[in-house]
Amino acid sequence: MKKTAEILLDMLYPKKCPLCHQILKEKNSLVCPDCFQKAIPMKEPLCMKCGRPVRMEEEYCQDCRSGVHHFTEGRSIFPYGEIWRQSLVRFKYYGCREYGDFYAKAISIYGRKYLERWKPQLIVPVPLHSRKKRMRGFNQAAYLAERVSRFTGIPWSDNLVIKIRNTKSQKKLNASQRKKNLRNAYLVTRKITGFSVLVVDDVYTTGSTMDAMAMCLQEAGAKDVYFLTVCAGRA
Ligand SMILES: [Zn+2]
Ligand SMILES: [Zn+2]
Repeated sequence: MKKTAEILLDMLYPKKCPLCHQILKEKNSLVCPDCFQKAIPMKEPLCMKCGRPVRMEEEYCQDCRSGVHHFTEGRSIFPYGEIWRQSLVRFKYYGCREYGDFYAKAISIYGRKYLERWKPQLIVPVPLHSRKKRMRGFNQAAYLAERVSRFTGIPWSDNLVIKIRNTKSQKKLNASQRKKNLRNAYLVTRKITGFSVLVVDDVYTTGSTMDAMAMCLQEAGAKDVYFLTVCAGRA
């Protein structure tokens, strides 16, 4: 009976490749073979703090050299571009939630070397304001965090951090405007003294979201705040 239901579901909602959006022929794969070849993770040299590309002779990017960031360290798996933009839009707004299974797997596999070094004890997603979550139907970062937790065995919490202010869209704001916009937007609901926390999100852009998350987690006692995101966008 379950088999029939599964077959029916696959016929009604065939799984698609998150990068070329073609129907996946292999039922258990998360990405088509062509796109798997093309999805190349970010390569060194990367900023040792925020994980953005830097020049060969540099250890830190300009932002991190000037010490603007509050998080301990973080990495993004793929460089952001048009293919990724379209993929993430479909994932977030057009019901292609299965794309998130591929993203979470990529974070877990390519991020493993960082996780082994950082040893976070808890994964938290960047929260969405409840109103936005109702509109969108789900929190994309929570979807990723839940799966990264499953793949890595690190526990996750969907209610440790909540978003208490529905902030304006960050897209058209510069770095300092973003920072202002996000101040006091998040609330940590319990003390986490001495904890190492991993924040998971889809895109890292200016780092203002991660900084706001890090600040409130540190206020609640977190020792270290790391992050992993699917993509790093241009600042
Ligand atoms: Zn593909
Ligand atoms: Zn940096």
